[in-house]
Amino acid sequence: MPSLSPASPLDVPAEPSRTIADRYAAVRARVDAAAIAVGRAPDEVQLLVATKTQDAASVRAVVAAGATLIGENRVQELVAKAPDLADLVADGAVRVHMIGHLQRNKVNQVLATATGVESVDSLALAGALASRCAREGRTLDVMVQVNVSGEESKAGVGPDDASHLSRQVAALEGLRLTGFMTIGANSPDTALVRAGFERLRRIRDEVLASGAPGTGEARELSMGMSGDLEAAIAEGATIVRVGTAVFGARAVAAPVG
Ligand SMILES: *Cc1c(COP(=O)(O)O)cnc(C)c1O
Repeated sequence: MPSLSPASPLDVPAEPSRTIADRYAAVRARVDAAAIAVGRAPDEVQLLVATKTQDAASVRAVVAAGATLIGENRVQELVAKAPDLADLVADGAVRVHMIGHLQRNKVNQVLATATGVESVDSLALAGALASRCAREGRTLDVMVQVNVSGEESKAGVGPDDASHLSRQVAALEGLRLTGFMTIGANSPDTALVRAGFERLRRIRDEVLASGAPGTGEARELSMGMSGDLEAAIAEGATIVRVGTAVFGARAVAAPVG
């Protein structure tokens, strides 16, 4: 009879899907706690799982664990995994958002799979998405990505131009402006990071209050990642995008954004 001492970490079987389920549940609990801590209802905050560099089996595991929204940031990866996820998308089990920089010549590939695009940062890109959607008689959910930190490595329209661009995007047939996305400042200074999230919230409030055509549903604030989701939720995030905290550190360096 083996002793009843607690299992050592080495006794834990290597079951990736189990680990993903446990981590997903832990992240969801962290999001819920962050919402409650600032007097918000947990169900106001959706958890988008950022699946870059993860294979389709891992994506399926996280959907089985309860994820209903995933994000890919590279068109190539989105397209590569699409066939293995098609059934989940078709039956509505999961929605797929494009969260990375998107070139105009790739919009057809993205539209074949994604149910939404969070990374609209120019009128030219919005126009390309809109004309294709209008031609197909469909409506695509889009968000305007804003570079609140001003860091050069980050995509997104500048905060001063965000309100204007958003109103232009909102007016396009074929698109439904659902909100705004940003990647927080890469800084240990939480006050600075939080100020960026506050900036996005103010932009959202301004656009919503404008009454401009098509802006009435632009409520979402997609902001906060593994390292800064509490600050984002405190500033009103309605979607947090989490990768590392669910899957562990990425083996291969992948660009954010
Ligand atoms: C990878 C990625 C995330 C998630 O980042 P983690 O730090 O792994 O949680 C969020 N947003 C975008 C745009 C990303 O590319």
